[in-house]
Amino acid sequence: MLTITVPHNFVPERKYCAEVLFREIIGVDFDLQFADTHQTEIVAGKHKLILADSFWKPVRDEDSFLVHRKPPKLIDELAIADTSHQLVAIYGQATHELYSEDGFECEFCGIDIFASSFFMLSRWEEFVSQQTDLHGRFPYTNALAYRHKFLHRPIVNEYCMYIRSFLQRAGVAVPELPVARFFYTSDIDFVFKWRTAFSWAKTVVGDVCKRRDLRLAFENSFNFLKAPFSKYTDPYNTYRRQLYDAKKTGAEIIFYILPSKENIRFLSTTCTWLFDRIEKFGGTVGLHPGYDSHLANGHLHKEKKVLEDLLGKKVHESRQHFLRFSVPETWSMLQKRGITCDSTMYYTEVPGFRTGCCTEYSCYDIVYRKKLSLKERTLIFMDTSVFFREWQEPEGANAYLAKLIEQVERYGGDFVMLWHNSSFDSAVWDAKLPIYNYIVSHFIKKAKA
Ligand SMILES: [Zn+2]
Repeated sequence: MLTITVPHNFVPERKYCAEVLFREIIGVDFDLQFADTHQTEIVAGKHKLILADSFWKPVRDEDSFLVHRKPPKLIDELAIADTSHQLVAIYGQATHELYSEDGFECEFCGIDIFASSFFMLSRWEEFVSQQTDLHGRFPYTNALAYRHKFLHRPIVNEYCMYIRSFLQRAGVAVPELPVARFFYTSDIDFVFKWRTAFSWAKTVVGDVCKRRDLRLAFENSFNFLKAPFSKYTDPYNTYRRQLYDAKKTGAEIIFYILPSKENIRFLSTTCTWLFDRIEKFGGTVGLHPGYDSHLANGHLHKEKKVLEDLLGKKVHESRQHFLRFSVPETWSMLQKRGITCDSTMYYTEVPGFRTGCCTEYSCYDIVYRKKLSLKERTLIFMDTSVFFREWQEPEGANAYLAKLIEQVERYGGDFVMLWHNSSFDSAVWDAKLPIYNYIVSHFIKKAKA
């Protein structure tokens, strides 16, 4: 039997870390004990892995540690000799030692792996941060992972891989790494492009003033006039293409629908086939809660009900519109409303692992100090990120994405892509479609192999 012994303060947080790291990600059972100790000990047979305990150790007042402790300023990196393990030391020291003691083969790791994982998974840094961007979101430039250049690494999975190697050496029966999954997801903000005269006017003003393309303005005007007679040519009616592409990759398919008045009107009249088609392709309809829903329980409840009434069944998947999110309130509200999995965790401007994790895991309410049944499936790439900074060139984007995909596959995680139905519209998106094609063709090749 595997025994984990931890210090007896911060009991809910330590219990949460043990459950997520060992049970949910590695897949092994354990006996958790609390003792008068200053380190975390993982014991299997005659093998002992000792992890430093630096973050929670000096804290006396458990209820206020969230606001009184600040994220670290310096981050170290530990390369473990004769192995491929590279670990980020958010808390603790980048030290490592092997020795024998009292008949045990001991391995000491100076990184506080429990607290470092907790920092990433619970999104504690977002709770203590006072700064927000234009949309009230935690800015990526404040994120420790971005500032210290490890946003492209699923560091929690890296910790688990390290612990996993130890367990295997100690003779613990560790399950095989799962096969990586591809999630083809799409947020439907607008079911159709040509909705009202205002949507036409806005597009044409953009064509003339921003894109300086009169031909495009005429083309869009012609398409708008055609719209009442056929919805098949609407530039946002890309559902058929998306579902076929997703099916070829063998992906899990989720369409998150914003239950705006306009969308509900279209979905209940001209677009009744959409839900059937998603179901026929084995896809799932999720909720895309509106702009003000992340802090408003009433909005969330109403929007979920509207979508469920139309769909004729309960909705369990969700992603916030504009990725607006507040830690931990939004997670707690989603759970309360019957959502079982959220997939919002992402910085709009930069692809990567906002939670440091590419495996679905249980969320944690840091205010009420309890593990939630709600799971987070970290979003790893969103289409609109291609318009930011180094993402101007498709070639650069593909190389970066290849790195992200490679890591998800290495750790048997989930590569979650968001490509909006509106992001095939030729005027803006033609130049960016090679990125979409790159991802989809990678997973088609995988599915055929
Ligand atoms: Zn949206």
